[in-house]
Amino acid sequence: PLKNVLITGCSSGIGLAIAVKLAKDEQRRFKVYATMRNLSKQDDLVAAAEGCMGKTMEIKQLDVCCEESIKNCVSSIPDRKVDILVSNAGMGLIGPIECQTVDQMKTVMDTNFFGLVRLLKEILPDMKKRKSGHIVIISSVMGIQGILFNDVYAASKFAVEGFCESLAIQALKFKLQLSLIEPGPVVTEFEKKVYEDGLTMDLSAADKETAEMFTNVYLKNYKSIFQSLGQTAEDVAEHTMKIILAENPPFRHQTNTLYTPMTTLKYADPNGDLPIDTFYKMVFQHDKVFNASLNFIKLLRWRSKKSFDLGKPQS
Ligand code: NAD
Repeated sequence: PLKNVLITGCSSGIGLAIAVKLAKDEQRRFKVYATMRNLSKQDDLVAAAEGCMGKTMEIKQLDVCCEESIKNCVSSIPDRKVDILVSNAGMGLIGPIECQTVDQMKTVMDTNFFGLVRLLKEILPDMKKRKSGHIVIISSVMGIQGILFNDVYAASKFAVEGFCESLAIQALKFKLQLSLIEPGPVVTEFEKKVYEDGLTMDLSAADKETAEMFTNVYLKNYKSIFQSLGQTAEDVAEHTMKIILAENPPFRHQTNTLYTPMTTLKYADPNGDLPIDTFYKMVFQHDKVFNASLNFIKLLRWRSKKSFDLGKPQS
């Protein structure tokens, strides 16, 4: 029997790529409910999923910020049966907090964190009843580690991670699986939009030093970080499919091996200073210290490799 997969935020990027990848599965194991907030933005998905529409894929409206829309969408699926939920919809926000309004920050939390909460309030009870289901969440490496000028975005992904870590314990009792997918930089609309918002941001509320740091250090390096470390949405979709198909899927999975040495720094120092010092040196003294840090990071690679193979204990 086909597994029903509900995916949020499928009009672009990672959500679109996952929807297409699963719908085009040669073994036809999935029925994909590809959802998006605004159905008028479905053209790219329809084009990429050619031949799947009405067969292995259906497109539905779902706004993760609207309970009513989630309820309507889930109720329109036969028996409300969601075997796999991929919580992908999300948004970014960069810049000095002095230049962001609390309303802007709340929108990020409402989408990235409460969006997931709303989905699970609707879908989890059914999964518990059936004692089966896999909840896959597109988190981020910023769910593990904060990055300069991504304060609120990182906070929203930390919220997601803390929420899921707590829920995973209960889920085990119901034989449900939870997996956090943690991509590093991915080249999508997200990255372009966040960058353009950064370029046009009104920095007048920030002091000169902070404004310069944002423009001349952060934004200046932004593109090159995505160019050198960036993955494609299809890469992330491939990782996500492997996690979905895994017999014993891990709770956390980082998709970008170039990035894992950075996240490993967090676990290497219980005091928490090592990743902060390393980021500081990479950002502000990279000529002098970058190579030294890189060598150190290479030394730590074995730990991240090891964490890649870890599964979840059997219930
Ligand atoms: P994207 O902007 O292409 O996709 C995000 C999608 O979410 C869009 O289609 C957007 O319309 C949708 N969305 C936003 N608010 C919504 C709402 N209220 N209801 C329904 N849909 C909504 O960017 P992406 O890179 O594909 O992002 C997908 C996920 O991946 C996000 O959760 C993001 O945080 C995460 N992520 C992205 C990167 C990256 O570098 N691009 C890195 C790590 C994690």
